[in-house]
Amino acid sequence: MALIRHFVNGEETGEPARLGPVFDPATGIRQHDVALASAAETEAAIAAAKAALPGWRATSLTKRADVLFRLRHLLTERRAELAAIVTSEHGKVLSDAAGEIGRGLENVEFASGLIDKLKGEYSEQVSTGIDVHSVKQPVGVVACITPFNFPVMVPLWMVASAIACGNTVVLKPSEKDPSASVFLAKLFAEAGLPAGVLNVVHGDKEAVDTLLDSPDVSAVSFVGSTPIARSIYQRASANGKRVQALGGAKNHMVVLEDADIEAAADAAVSAAYGSAGERCMAVSVLVAVGEAGDKLVPAIQRRLGALAIGPGTDPASEMGPLITREHRDKVASYVAKAAAEGATVVVDGTAQQFDGDGFFVGVSLVDDVAPGMAVYDDEIFGPVLSVVRVDTFDEAVALINANPYGNGVALFTRDGGAARQFEFEIEVGMVGINVPIPVPVGAYSFGGWKNSLFGDSHIYGPESFHFYTRSKVVTTRWPDPVHSKIELAFPGNS
Ligand code: NAD
Repeated sequence: MALIRHFVNGEETGEPARLGPVFDPATGIRQHDVALASAAETEAAIAAAKAALPGWRATSLTKRADVLFRLRHLLTERRAELAAIVTSEHGKVLSDAAGEIGRGLENVEFASGLIDKLKGEYSEQVSTGIDVHSVKQPVGVVACITPFNFPVMVPLWMVASAIACGNTVVLKPSEKDPSASVFLAKLFAEAGLPAGVLNVVHGDKEAVDTLLDSPDVSAVSFVGSTPIARSIYQRASANGKRVQALGGAKNHMVVLEDADIEAAADAAVSAAYGSAGERCMAVSVLVAVGEAGDKLVPAIQRRLGALAIGPGTDPASEMGPLITREHRDKVASYVAKAAAEGATVVVDGTAQQFDGDGFFVGVSLVDDVAPGMAVYDDEIFGPVLSVVRVDTFDEAVALINANPYGNGVALFTRDGGAARQFEFEIEVGMVGINVPIPVPVGAYSFGGWKNSLFGDSHIYGPESFHFYTRSKVVTTRWPDPVHSKIELAFPGNS
């Protein structure tokens, strides 16, 4: 069994006192151990990042861009190898793993345009003989703490822009699928990133708390569940750091009566059950307006029987296992609870049998769901799609706006006026019109509202260049000493 170690200052390190298990979710076998960093080991990674900061922030923008261009090339070349690592520890099917690498590449491509994005401003003659300009400088050492569900894409959401801006990084990936981060850090090194600029420490609360409390960490980017996001935001901001903490979700897909029902059913199945529902942008609630539900529920049910569930390495599989046995059992418990709370279980995937000890569960469809039921209120993060029936468009909007999460939402319709009204009224950060998973392309930023994001900055794209830099404004005068005099009044403009 291999030991997955930290990657600090360009080397694999760690003689760990504590270890965590890394499973192959398709077999249930513990395939690796991962080192869980102590406070001292985490501090060593922070010290490496701090030591690398002066050299990296002084590295020319062209050289930084060169590293990102080379990284893009290497990631493209080794995409299949990296996808296999993701599938082996996360469980998602290989095509899905390759897809997340593709979306992560968008962030590398965006960040490689850093010369344009780090431009400051200049105003000549703001007062007689006085000019003003602004520059964007790195914030310092950035801690990046990531979830299990996108072990390549989410680290790239953060790291590509953070280093483009001249910061150095300590990345703390999920301990459930940690190998992809080490692979990424080695690719960055191969692309020419100097040692210490990107460090990876594995671990749990002990490592995270050390990052949040260290006076040498200036900013924290976090993606994970809402309770942890909230506590990370509170602790790190109380320690004076800038923080963006993206949390969980309950994403609704509204289907109006005029929508193409077959297309909406295809979209709902893809968005609800892709990656076994373990996506923060997965559709978990279908809101059927008027009579749409009577056609939509049978159309979805017809599709579910044909879904191929199996190991992610099997090209025939469309959906793999869940991340852990405990998570699989928790997901299954919601289906039983839904029936007890009065919902109608149309398809019960928890009854499906699988060979072996993998963490598989079948897909479930639950109709007649309402707020107040656990299946509606909680983020389940598994292949369970709830259907809420409402009579009107206004009721659909009110339902979604009352939900404490606000990550993604979708509307399916052929009515442009309704779509415009929806976009105007809905209190959610990312909206899809006939697009079920509206993850913004790399040139825009990603982020939810309400309990889906703590902090004021969305992640990747333009907002990341704002988050990972501090601006400095410089006022300049080159006076002729002949005119020098003492002037105690507050300087005005003239
Ligand atoms: P998680 O919150 O359990 O873990 C996220 C990270 O926090 C991991 O690195 C983990 O080691 C660390 N962590 C866990 N418990 C901690 C604690 N008590 N103190 C300090 N650190 C702790 O999330 P997860 O299960 O890995 O990922 C799934 C969740 O992430 C879902 O809720 C999903 O919606 C969310 N997510 C959100 C987005 C988004 O962009 N909003 C994207 C992906 C995933």
